[in-house]
Amino acid sequence: MSAPQNGIFTREEIEAREERSLAPYGMRSRESHGRRFPEPEHAYRTAFQRDRDRIVHSSAFRRLEYKTQVFVNHEGDHFRTRLTHEMEVAQISRTVARALGLNEDLCEALALIHDLGHTPFGHAGQDAMQELMKDHGGFEHNLQSLRIVETLERRYPDFPGLNLTWEVRESILKHKVKRDQPLPDEYRPDWAPLLEAQVVDLADSIAYDHHDVDDSLPAGFITEEDLAEVELWRIASAEVAKRYPGIDGKTARRQKVRFLIDLAVTDLIRTTAGSLRAQKIASIDDVRTAKSAVAGFSKEMEARKGELQVFLNARVYRHHRVLRMQERAKRFLRDIFHEYVRNPGQLPPEFQSWAREAGTERAVCDYIAGMTDRFAQEEYLKFFQPFERV
Ligand code: MG
Repeated sequence: MSAPQNGIFTREEIEAREERSLAPYGMRSRESHGRRFPEPEHAYRTAFQRDRDRIVHSSAFRRLEYKTQVFVNHEGDHFRTRLTHEMEVAQISRTVARALGLNEDLCEALALIHDLGHTPFGHAGQDAMQELMKDHGGFEHNLQSLRIVETLERRYPDFPGLNLTWEVRESILKHKVKRDQPLPDEYRPDWAPLLEAQVVDLADSIAYDHHDVDDSLPAGFITEEDLAEVELWRIASAEVAKRYPGIDGKTARRQKVRFLIDLAVTDLIRTTAGSLRAQKIASIDDVRTAKSAVAGFSKEMEARKGELQVFLNARVYRHHRVLRMQERAKRFLRDIFHEYVRNPGQLPPEFQSWAREAGTERAVCDYIAGMTDRFAQEEYLKFFQPFERV
């Protein structure tokens, strides 16, 4: 590629480069349906690059650093948090996107946003909020991500939220999830998600399968002997023993996890490339109207991943220490919620005015869902420990 005129590639040039480098079914920034509140385009960043940057600069994103993925943040400094999980999903998604000719910037934005709406304390927090909001409009983390980027983040004078492109907002809502309410018409429920969104969904599962194995071993929840009942682990062990005869311990474990991620990513790329050909996908329109998902794993990999997930479910996600943490988290999120609802005057001023606009329960839910684990714990102490500073 030759040097740009005046030393800088303009947005128009970067968009033209997308035209040349993306596959015909990759989403071009130039073809975005745009933002809800029109804004002038940037001099040298595409629409999806800007979306990604807005997400990274949001306060909800920074708070992911102190939100539990599976292992509570204070249990150890090496465990994944929501933030590092999202970074792993972004990295895997970008690899897949680049190999398949999809839009890497869009993938990155979607990966970095996909868990933004999660409560403190992982899934326990979500369960608690679902139960508490049952009669007040419900709670679901994808919808909460959308609320954050459309309403709750306040940093621009001209509009609430981050004013992200339509494609990013659509993809948040179409993130794989069991949903009881239909999608709003505005988000074209009849359209299949973009390939970039499909890839991020699958990269999410690759990331958590493997980092949960990688975190559970040093946490002492499982041993390598336990994992030997999982076929993928046996394959990885055999491969690592072959590549590096005689290694064991931490390095061997890390090599096995590394090999497993590579195996899953390679399978995803190859299988997706195969179904692009089989389903004759040649444009974004073809992606939108495809009868079944285009991105995916092979049947064999599906089965093996399924087996690993059953194992993780039984041995890690329902481990007595995880359950105890979850029950405790639910209990104190419930107590904080009821205390704020009983007297909303205890909310910070901006959430008091938000309560007048959105309703007390919804505002309390937004406030609690945005908390980090440690902030929620401190709130609990301030409410219920008589000598805690308030
Ligand atoms: Mg995730």
